[in-house]
Amino acid sequence: MAVQQNKVSKSRRNKRRAHDSLEGANPNECANCGELKRPHHVCAACGHYDDREVIAQADEIDLDEDAA
Ligand SMILES: [Zn+2]
Repeated sequence: MAVQQNKVSKSRRNKRRAHDSLEGANPNECANCGELKRPHHVCAACGHYDDREVIAQADEIDLDEDAA
């Protein structure tokens, strides 16, 4: 096991951790519905990507398929 040669002081430790905070996401507006979405990801609200619907929404799927 590696053993550190010197104690890291609270000051030095905290100075190192000063850069560890997470940055907020940088969302884009969806071109289709205007909802905020992650860049380069399919819109979670409408299922569109690049002006194209790639995920069918639940209200558009015919759920009575096996009843027929
Ligand atoms: Zn959308």
